[in-house]
Amino acid sequence: MRRKTTLPSDGLAGRARRARVEPMAVRPLRDGRYVVETDGGTYVVDVEARTCTCPDNAIRHARCKHLRRVAIEITRGEVPPPGRRSATCAVCGDETFVPMDATGPQLCRDHEHRAGDLVRDRESGGLLVVTRALGTRADETPTETGKLVAAFESNRDYGNHEPVFEAVYLDSLPVNAGLSDLGGLHAYRFPASRLSRVERGFVGARTLGERLARA
Ligand SMILES: [Zn+2]
Ligand SMILES: [Zn+2]
Repeated sequence: MRRKTTLPSDGLAGRARRARVEPMAVRPLRDGRYVVETDGGTYVVDVEARTCTCPDNAIRHARCKHLRRVAIEITRGEVPPPGRRSATCAVCGDETFVPMDATGPQLCRDHEHRAGDLVRDRESGGLLVVTRALGTRADETPTETGKLVAAFESNRDYGNHEPVFEAVYLDSLPVNAGLSDLGGLHAYRFPASRLSRVERGFVGARTLGERLARA
């Protein structure tokens, strides 16, 4: 259960001020709405529909202090936006917000990889391009030989619970490969934190060939 908290008034007045200085606890519901507990009562806010069950909104149709407070807490990253839920990063343990229906191990923005990212293998130092996120744990994901990713000696320093990514060595990447081709390439499987990001979106809308032509 979240404790009621307050925010500095920031020199504001009226509802904008009350939204900040009055003690409130905001709790996300699974359906994308939020429960707001105050000293004066408990209300349900729907950010997307801009509704709240309090009299100020339900009767006077004002953008009430509860709606404002939920919007502030979403902006500050205190609660997930509608449609997302809180999860723990499998690499650093920090809280992160993921789609409500996401399953398996999750990663924060700093530790996630996306298809097209240029990464360095911490073991070999080699450069690779991420082709696919498998989303399954290293101790549950086999490589093509059938041996689990987590069972390799070279992966012992990385978490068994980390999600697995597929990546191709940069020098084996076809020069004309675009983002849509990456999923079909023959790739190797790695636990998330064995790959460190060098450049986000290295292979994107422009193919490697087009990039090299400009370089
Ligand atoms: Zn309200
Ligand atoms: Zn993380």
